[in-house]
Amino acid sequence: MFQTLFGDPNKRKIKKYEVIVDEINKLEPTLQSLTDSQLQSKTAKLIDSVHSEKDLDIILPDAFALVREASYRVLGLRHFDVQLLGGIILHEGKIAEMKTGEGKTLVAILAAYLNALSKKGVHVVTVNDYLAKRDAEWVGQVPKFLGLSIGLVQQGISQQERENNYSKDITYITNSELGFDYLRDNMAIEMNDMVQRDFYFCIIDEVDSILIDEARTPLIISGAGDAVDEKYIRANEISKYLDKTTHYEVDEKARNIILTEEGILKCEELLDNKGLYNPEDPWASYIFNAVKAKELFTKDVHYIVKENEVIIVDEFTGRIMVGRRWSDGLHQAIEAKEGATIQNESQTLASITYQNFFLLYPKLSGMTGTAKTEAYELDKIYGLDVICVPTNKKMKRKDFPDLVYKSQYSKWKSIADECLDMHTLGRPVLVGTTSVEKSELLSSLLLEYGIPHNLLNAKPENIKREAEIIAQAGRKGSVTIATNMAGRGTDILLGGNSSYMAKAALSQLTGESTSAKVLIKDDPKLETLSKFLRDQIKLLNLSEEAIQEKISIACEKGFTDDPFIITLRASYQVLEDQYSVLIKKEREEVLTLGGLHVIGTERHESRRVDNQLRGRAGRQGDPGSSRFFLSLEDNLFRIFGGDRIASMMDTLRIEESVPIESSFLNKSLESAQKKVEAYYYDARKQLFEYDEVLNYQRQAIYSERRRILASRNLRNWILQYAETTIRDYVTQYFNTIEQDKSSEPSQRKKLLQKVEDLLGLPYTLDMSSISNLSAKEMTTFLCQHMRIAYDLKESQIELIENGLMRDLERSFLLQKIDSAWKEHLQNMNGLRETIGWRGYGQKDPLIEYKNEAYSLFTSMSVNVRHSVIYLIFRAQPILKN
Ligand code: ADP
Ligand code: MG
Repeated sequence: MFQTLFGDPNKRKIKKYEVIVDEINKLEPTLQSLTDSQLQSKTAKLIDSVHSEKDLDIILPDAFALVREASYRVLGLRHFDVQLLGGIILHEGKIAEMKTGEGKTLVAILAAYLNALSKKGVHVVTVNDYLAKRDAEWVGQVPKFLGLSIGLVQQGISQQERENNYSKDITYITNSELGFDYLRDNMAIEMNDMVQRDFYFCIIDEVDSILIDEARTPLIISGAGDAVDEKYIRANEISKYLDKTTHYEVDEKARNIILTEEGILKCEELLDNKGLYNPEDPWASYIFNAVKAKELFTKDVHYIVKENEVIIVDEFTGRIMVGRRWSDGLHQAIEAKEGATIQNESQTLASITYQNFFLLYPKLSGMTGTAKTEAYELDKIYGLDVICVPTNKKMKRKDFPDLVYKSQYSKWKSIADECLDMHTLGRPVLVGTTSVEKSELLSSLLLEYGIPHNLLNAKPENIKREAEIIAQAGRKGSVTIATNMAGRGTDILLGGNSSYMAKAALSQLTGESTSAKVLIKDDPKLETLSKFLRDQIKLLNLSEEAIQEKISIACEKGFTDDPFIITLRASYQVLEDQYSVLIKKEREEVLTLGGLHVIGTERHESRRVDNQLRGRAGRQGDPGSSRFFLSLEDNLFRIFGGDRIASMMDTLRIEESVPIESSFLNKSLESAQKKVEAYYYDARKQLFEYDEVLNYQRQAIYSERRRILASRNLRNWILQYAETTIRDYVTQYFNTIEQDKSSEPSQRKKLLQKVEDLLGLPYTLDMSSISNLSAKEMTTFLCQHMRIAYDLKESQIELIENGLMRDLERSFLLQKIDSAWKEHLQNMNGLRETIGWRGYGQKDPLIEYKNEAYSLFTSMSVNVRHSVIYLIFRAQPILKN
């Protein structure tokens, strides 16, 4: 209704941006006539013209036109108008929804270049190391050509390299490296150990993956805690004796289990009549986790076991999440179940959720093919607006209606049939599965049918080839099975990807492997080339690693003056040309056949993820199609479908192999999916709201730490702490005697005693000297003593070594803050857990949590001040002889 009256709001915004795009287009002819160095000299001028954020808006058309021209010269890619639109949206700190294959990587450099002109550092965040490297080496060349510096942070690089790369104008990095570096920086003992600069502007690629899917598990840095392995093992044993429904109930929706009365008795019996909830020797959480591990966590679905280690598999992406652990003992319970090494009960040293982490950026933006369905959440939590950018060419993909089968068996059989049909036709197929287990099930079915296919799932041996497999998924007749979003960010080109083929062939040409022959196909020119390259390698004495590194650089077209890389690049070019010819023909064939066909094997937990899978087909105006195969036994129906679906399953008398058509079914499917979306949204919102409380405290502690690291002299800081502590004592004294005048002498004695204890005074303070003083006077008096004592202590310490007092101050401060914060995090965890269990009647548990968190924090701060002062006044010089 409103839309017809006032027009689609999205369209209206796009209209506004189109005016700017026109402006950029008008600048093109002038820039085209300039030489490379004339173009390059423009960057410095633009930098000079930036004095405030507003200036960036003014120079946007110039900067974008410049990037477009540079991109054309360096990469041979000229930004489409819709890509400029996307760039403007990013610059405005919003989310640009642009479909798969629309060239978002190229879009990012527009906003990255413009914002980097203010010299404060722009971060471009991607979901994995491979993409970060690819993007930095590929499109990063454009801002580099224009005179900006490009950084790349990868897993495993040194502290020094990190700092260096963060200091660049534009830094490519993954979300987890970025988050962990932030946490580590805030645990640093010296300013020099910090690697990041202040946050300025961040562009997140595949933004929904990071801000929504990954937001469910916080980033945690943990250290070793107390080991209690036996309890996990014993609890695991006990869980085997417990039966579902008799001893416990499983709530699949909430992913929780509940012990029945009988179950509790059984456990206590198995535990030699120990109580489950004995505070001295608690067993409840161990048993809960063991049963959860037994019922709700399945190997190869939720996790994999590799080299005696339990590694989480991300349910959405199917990627393994190395280094991440389930919290509160659950991970250990699963390790016990699998007989894997039980890793030390870990203690949280630092943690943050992605929500609060990314909110640290003054300006945040993102891009993805699928954000609109989650626009509400992105706005509510991150304040990010989603704007849909039209596709460059018209979308031609056909999305066929779902086919719903009665049983899993008939569903998978029909999927295999469809793969066979497509394969026979020669149309490439991509099948998305939701778990390693199911992908392997389908793979074995296809084997039976004799259909050659590639399998891509979270198994480590497959992951390495991820990008490569996906890149070839568009070849004629190819069948690819991939867990959900594996290979996200890598393009599926119809007919195949000549760059990948050329790169793979180059690797083979440089190796001794005979399989190179297969690719070379008796081409004498390539034989000669191969021999030449191998001789060079021998001459240069290159390791296998060095060769691969050089090949990577050679294929990415970045600048190089290494003669061997130049040779490699020339060879790559030859190969690429050959493959391009091959592929062009194949592409035509695939186009006529109808392009890529995507098969979904289950509706996902959100429509967004379904759309991501579909989006693999029909890129850049290509033909393509998609279809989902479902069964009434799918989790979504089973758990969220309600009773009517269940009864339908029993009463249906149709043949198994015939798909069911019913509008009722479609409706309940949709409502089930919405229920799941809402459920997960609530879970994320709750995590966010609870972490927000901790977030204020984290910010307070982190900024205090930063100020400590930045100051050279902390003497005044310590004196301040001491004064505050003394003032607290005095206030307490006055409060007490106000209630009971007669207690004055004993209270006064107590006050003086406390001050003497705090400062470790070697003499007693005179009782009469402070009688009849006001609170202010009394504080001043006591503080005078404190200052004298401090000066004495300082001269005593400084005798040993010049500057020693300053060192002591710093180290005591950091030591106490860090240990208190660590303990606080643990208390907050405990609080969080108990808040859930306690009944509050009508009270809101979140408010209770906030109140208690506040008082925990206050007492922590008091504690820090007190113990720092206590320590420092007792520091004893030990004279060396
Ligand atoms: P997305 O991230 O949006 O899925 P990519 O950034 O991976 O897309 O780009 C997809 C493909 O489109 C790449 O192969 C890239 O070379 C190509 N491409 C992007 N922009 C252009 C352009 N302006 N002209 C021609 N090709 C382009
Ligand atoms: Mg991409």
